[in-house]
Amino acid sequence: MAKATKAAAHYSFFESVERNFDKAASFTNIKDKGILDQIKACNSIYRINFPVKIADKVEVIEAYRVQHSHHKLPTKGGIRFSMDVNQDEVMALAALMTYKCAIVNVPFGGAKGGIKIDPKKLSAYDLEKVTRRYTAELVKKNFIGPGIDVPAPDYGTGPQEMSWIVDTYMSLRPGEIDAAGCVTGKPVTQGGVRGRTEATGLGVYFGVREMCNDTEMMKKLNMTVGMEDKTVVVQGLGNVGYHAAKFFGEGGSRVIGIAEYEGAITNPKGLDVDAVMAHRKKTGSILNFPGAKNLKKSAEALELECDILIPAALENVINGENAPRVKARIVAEAANGPLTPDADAILTKKGTVVIPDMYINAGGVTVSYFEWLKNLSHVRYGRMEKRFSENMNTSILGSIEGLTGKKVSAAERKIILHGPDEVDLVHSGLEDTMMGSYHEIKDIWLKNKKIADMRTAAFVNSINKIGVSYMELGIFP
Ligand code: GLU
Repeated sequence: MAKATKAAAHYSFFESVERNFDKAASFTNIKDKGILDQIKACNSIYRINFPVKIADKVEVIEAYRVQHSHHKLPTKGGIRFSMDVNQDEVMALAALMTYKCAIVNVPFGGAKGGIKIDPKKLSAYDLEKVTRRYTAELVKKNFIGPGIDVPAPDYGTGPQEMSWIVDTYMSLRPGEIDAAGCVTGKPVTQGGVRGRTEATGLGVYFGVREMCNDTEMMKKLNMTVGMEDKTVVVQGLGNVGYHAAKFFGEGGSRVIGIAEYEGAITNPKGLDVDAVMAHRKKTGSILNFPGAKNLKKSAEALELECDILIPAALENVINGENAPRVKARIVAEAANGPLTPDADAILTKKGTVVIPDMYINAGGVTVSYFEWLKNLSHVRYGRMEKRFSENMNTSILGSIEGLTGKKVSAAERKIILHGPDEVDLVHSGLEDTMMGSYHEIKDIWLKNKKIADMRTAAFVNSINKIGVSYMELGIFP
């Protein structure tokens, strides 16, 4: 077994994903152990060491691409740049992608890539060289392509890296008509889709909101229904954490704590996340934000009194040691694997609801799916229907005003007449996905009294879907 991820307690990250899978397996409809073993196994693991010249010195870069499941193709999942990257971590993250895609009904197998570098220490030019060389290595082994394996952003990467990937792919595969679909999370000018940047954070918001609007669930948790005045703590102000914090604030909740590397800040009256970001840009730190109290250790924020805790950075931040001190009623895993199995057991025993990563952070891959479809269809969402809808709405409104003799206000007119733009359709598709998947998981959870937590229910949902796929396809001899 490859080196375990640093902070794991007794088992590696991949082993904890397997343990969670095993916990759920007996509740599924899949009784064939062979099928369960096949669902669990990583199908292809590609480990590369390639040379890159960085400031006149040759450096050997360690990188991976793991395709966890080929039950549906292409496989899908981000690429992370971090010094913590190792084979075990990439395998675990690839496995989570498989279960995640099944949960939100996105027709992909799971994959993940990782390059062991510290992106903050490399110049933009060096990052470009590493990214392009990595892409060329994937092309060489047929590990990338719109019908094969489609990377995306993850921890330490973003639209810029995705641009380099698509450009390298296109130059090595000239004339491939669907080439833009070889990677998602691209800038809009390079075939990206509007709404992808905020997708994961917005998905976290939609998922938690669906739970908070669920009377049955709120009764179980002894909480009031709705988002207003719910207190929220966010760990990590990267793309996911920033957008989650922003949408919770806009939705009427109070973000009372924010944590980053340098420490954490808290203000029971609420923090304006954009103002915190501006303060960090100016001073280099979130600390000393006007009106807020500093917490010296970033991890202290995880233990703040709040309704909803959102770990949105890396894996294993809540473990057997600090879980007993977590006071939140709901923990929404915006990051992948932020809880160790020990932490999970402690929180479940306390009656805390943990909304699992494979559901709550699936907004990113959901919108990646929309981007991939856009690339294959070669047309922007809304292009065909926007004007038609506006014309139709104008005539309906005209008829109503004619019949009633009353006129709507200018502000109402604007809302009623508006035909959907790309971003409206993407947000609406994401909202519908997060709402629908919540109910699929909840139904499994509440129907079976022996299923103790939402993660197990999410696994059951996912394994059932993947198992059916294997059984209906049969096994290629
Ligand atoms: N890296 C993101 C995740 O972990 C997005 C993956 C994708 O869009 O393919 O879900």
